Amino acid sequence: LVEIHDLHKSFGSNHVLRGIDFAVEEGEVVCVIGPSGSGKSTLLRCVNLLEVPEKGKVLVSGEDITDPDCHLDAARARIGMVFQQFNLFPHLSVLANCTVAQTTVLRRNASAAGEIARANLDRVGLNDKVNAYPMQLSGGQQQRVAIARALSMDPALMLFDEPTSALDPELVGDVLTVMRKLALDGMTMLVVTHEMAFAREVADRVVFMDGGVIVEQGPPAEVIGNPQQERTRTFLRRVL
Ligand code: ATP
Ligand code: MG
Repeated sequence: LVEIHDLHKSFGSNHVLRGIDFAVEEGEVVCVIGPSGSGKSTLLRCVNLLEVPEKGKVLVSGEDITDPDCHLDAARARIGMVFQQFNLFPHLSVLANCTVAQTTVLRRNASAAGEIARANLDRVGLNDKVNAYPMQLSGGQQQRVAIARALSMDPALMLFDEPTSALDPELVGDVLTVMRKLALDGMTMLVVTHEMAFAREVADRVVFMDGGVIVEQGPPAEVIGNPQQERTRTFLRRVL
């Protein structure tokens, strides 16, 4: 579903991504782990072109989204993104947060969009909050609205960038439960996370990044349970 070939990205003289090659298969859950500054967020942002890579290719469903001729809005509509900060529209109700992109980008009519939004809010356990405003919700509830909003666009792929890092510890579990359910439903997911227990349990594959390269990747039992590289071992000693 996603193929990344020799991806490079610099900010000024800071060469952040130094040749990333990897792929995500349909239905696969891939967790990306690694130290702060290793380029995890930049990698995710390159997958939906929030950052433009300077070299290399990103293919989504076979389409090269780094090709200048590519229809970017159409490509982006197939990719849902959930950030550390929930980025909800504060002036819109929960329901409207989940319908606005459906009606403007996908040109769905209001009643179809509303129905789809309600179904997804139900899926994240928030069907009783459709008329609430973001500031009336806890961080965990806001993050679940952000997930429902992304799901309402029928994405082929969901990107998560540390979706639980900004949450109070007691709210982390609800969000992880929703993500676990999504994974079981067969959603293709690329997840940057510090939640090692989640990665171990839910990921089909774990990718360890350091210094802008993939140092090692494989099933969680190998990468987290029995890492081969010294850099991976050093990182895991610090976080586990
Ligand atoms: P963290 O775990 O702290 O989120 P990360 O692995 O996600 O770290 P990135 O956010 O991808 O790391 O950042 C990698 C490097 O790129 C850092 O040195 C950062 O300062 C730099 N960087 C990221 N975004 C920008 C930007 N928009 N402009 C300039 N430098 C940036
Ligand atoms: Mg980051």
